[in-house]
Amino acid sequence: MTLEFTDTPSGMLEFGAEGRLGTRFRLYPQTPDLDDPEEPETVYVSSPAGTISEGPADDRMYTVFPIDKPTHYGLHDESNGEPVLFLPPWNNDIFIPAQPGADGHFDHFEPDTPEFFMAHMFGATRFTLDIWEGYFGRQIDWHFRDDYDRLEISIIPKVDNAFLGWGFLEAGGMESEGKYSPFFLNFDIIAHEVGHAIVYSEIGMPSAHDEEPEYFGFQESMADVVALLASLHFESVMTSLLNNTSGNLYTYNKLSRFAEMSDNNQIRLAANDRVMSEFVDGWDDEHKLAQPLTGAMFDILVDLFHEHLLELGLIPPEMEEMSDRLEGDPAYSSILQDDFDKFYALNPEGFKRAMETARDQLGTLVADAIPMFGRRQISFAEFGKALEEADQELTGGQNYKIIHRNFLIREIGRFDPGPRLKKPDKHSHSLTDRTISPRDLE
Ligand SMILES: [Zn+2]
Repeated sequence: MTLEFTDTPSGMLEFGAEGRLGTRFRLYPQTPDLDDPEEPETVYVSSPAGTISEGPADDRMYTVFPIDKPTHYGLHDESNGEPVLFLPPWNNDIFIPAQPGADGHFDHFEPDTPEFFMAHMFGATRFTLDIWEGYFGRQIDWHFRDDYDRLEISIIPKVDNAFLGWGFLEAGGMESEGKYSPFFLNFDIIAHEVGHAIVYSEIGMPSAHDEEPEYFGFQESMADVVALLASLHFESVMTSLLNNTSGNLYTYNKLSRFAEMSDNNQIRLAANDRVMSEFVDGWDDEHKLAQPLTGAMFDILVDLFHEHLLELGLIPPEMEEMSDRLEGDPAYSSILQDDFDKFYALNPEGFKRAMETARDQLGTLVADAIPMFGRRQISFAEFGKALEEADQELTGGQNYKIIHRNFLIREIGRFDPGPRLKKPDKHSHSLTDRTISPRDLE
């Protein structure tokens, strides 16, 4: 079943030719402040209403909220020091699974209930997978499918981390400034982990790539891009980004005013000004090494968006020249901002459509490039070439300049990262509990 989806005026994804709306879930695009939570946003996932059973569960994933689970899945030392691999299924006590409503939907739970937590983790995972299976135009198989048909989605509040590993996606939360921040209510974090599953499935596991330092940076960057584009399917995220900037993402980018762009962590993370020469002497955290590539991807999204604004006649060509001139002189930014405020106010819906088109164009380019890229030497520069080839096939190379220029600006292909300077720790998303499989212990 290939998933075709379109964004409807209500911001809901419609699935399949007949526009079936699927099953409703309420999700938080951002971790809610538990003291004063905003309203979660209602979205649809592809499974027709009535086909998702208690858990929630369907043919690809099921959700459990274990009671008194001793620790998270992964590699642990037994009392005798022997390593033991703790993996699904959890067959012990669990909280009562979230039940579908009479209409088959899962949008009827109060936000502070275990059922809401379970529905939120399942809904966020399914929503992200739907979006990216739409971009790939096919089902994305689990990388652990030899051992498990389905992903076990699990909530473990006492663990201050979130993991996607061999057969499981597990999320906890952390105390910060006396407040508990639940990762299982954070769409970004769940979508990021689903991003890792997509890369493991399409490119392969770290063990097969451990000689390629950029593999780890690529993993993190693509996990961020997966979360970024999925986040932009939330009405609230898209609207706040455009309302905050009037679409003048360029200036905010150029002037590194990232924080003002959006209160969405993913956007703030992607909009960065890191370059490869910062890593020639080595790196210690793959999340940082990823930033020049993620930044290039965000800049490509901004340029594609501008192209669509021009094509749709929503901004005059002079503004484009002004942006280029802004390159050297911040003084232009206020003039440019006034113009963007004026044109955005004239047609906010048009700006939104232009951003949705750019979002889906980049999603499709990434989905086409990854399989091509998987058969080559894993490097940021090779991925850039794969994107250019995917664009050549999709548009006859219309966006070659945009892709090429934004990779060059980040010095990708000019400077290679030096060695890993520090052994990966528990915050590393590779070579840890996330990537170990039973075969690694044979
Ligand atoms: Zn990660």
